[in-house]
Amino acid sequence: ASIFAAVEMAPRDPILGLNEAFNADGRTEKVNLGVGVYYDDNGKIPLLAAVKTAEKARLEAMPPRGYQPIEGPAAYNTAVQNLLFGKDSALIANGQVVTVQALGGTGALKVGADYLKRLVPGATVYISDPSWENHRALFESAGFPVENYPYYEPSTRGVNFASMKAKLEQLAPGSVVVLHACCHNPTGADLSEAQWGEVVGACRERGLVPFLDMAYQGFADGIEPDAVAVRLFSASGLQFFVSSSFSKSFSLYGERVGALSIVTASKDESARVLSQVKRVIRTNYSNPPIHGGAVVAAVLNSAELRQMWEDELAGMRDRIRAMRTGLVENLKAAGVAQDFSFVIQQRGMFSYTGLSVAQVDQLRNDFGIYAVSTGRICLAALNSRNIGYVAKAIAAVVK
Ligand code: PMP
Repeated sequence: ASIFAAVEMAPRDPILGLNEAFNADGRTEKVNLGVGVYYDDNGKIPLLAAVKTAEKARLEAMPPRGYQPIEGPAAYNTAVQNLLFGKDSALIANGQVVTVQALGGTGALKVGADYLKRLVPGATVYISDPSWENHRALFESAGFPVENYPYYEPSTRGVNFASMKAKLEQLAPGSVVVLHACCHNPTGADLSEAQWGEVVGACRERGLVPFLDMAYQGFADGIEPDAVAVRLFSASGLQFFVSSSFSKSFSLYGERVGALSIVTASKDESARVLSQVKRVIRTNYSNPPIHGGAVVAAVLNSAELRQMWEDELAGMRDRIRAMRTGLVENLKAAGVAQDFSFVIQQRGMFSYTGLSVAQVDQLRNDFGIYAVSTGRICLAALNSRNIGYVAKAIAAVVK
């Protein structure tokens, strides 16, 4: 018999499954709000001009394709560090930050998780309730038990910070706490700077291992303000992990460009930690691909291209904001009495709308509008042509 005879079908990824259903839908007015991708006002994934320019230069130069260092090139890793920690960071100057290129934010989380399993094998990992659905699977596949800490409060459509903090203060020392650095996925509800300060305090008091996941730097208020959590942890003297991604901020989803950064207590620790992380990478995919990282490094290390990118990033951020206010206005205009102004307060690409499973089903069945069953919608999938239609449909299902 075949060795595969008894293999069971694995459960479908809920969001990719939604895409398949959307693609199969024959209606012309259909809208896919389920995705986690930024679309421009024409409904297209943008190829940024800064990226195009850097790619043309690479194509022109036709560089050879030797192996990269296991940790990726210094030009890329240094540029990542400057974005996350600030270019004047004392941690960088002291050699306390280890950064390795990774296959997107997901790859950074996986390398970090695999390394943590060697470092603190008995730890439990805590993720927010709810969290990006891959967080649990990633840390479980690295061998950790994964539990939740309280986060989202449906009644206020914000964070239940008192419960979150109380939970952090009870965790066993050495527990790993995964924190969304900004633009919380899936809720859009972020912590304030003061609350971040309290989270840092709780991590210090309990001896927790913070793991910041930064997938959307620049999508809330800007590159620097969105790094507030990283900066507060940097100033704390604690050791922590940061996974970061250029999928969204550079619109380079399929190139898989991200990084894992680890803050240690000294340059000497950094050298030893890097040697161990390199072992994890070496036995996994050996070394990272060239193209995406080279493009990002070329943009970030050129004053001219960097300015171009910052302007384009601001354009994406502003368009998402405009869709947030636009949706609230259109809902009002469609006669919705319920207060949806929380959509304007939420940050990043997503909003937990509070729509029920039945309402989400009705949006799909009656209007061809696809949202995640939790009520999560992607604001970056709205545009000037579909926003009125979506608002009218939501108005119909909440009446
Ligand atoms: N973390 C969070 C919170 C995310 O939302 C995402 C992307 N959806 C990632 C990590 C992974 O990003 P990437 O596509 O770069 O792997």
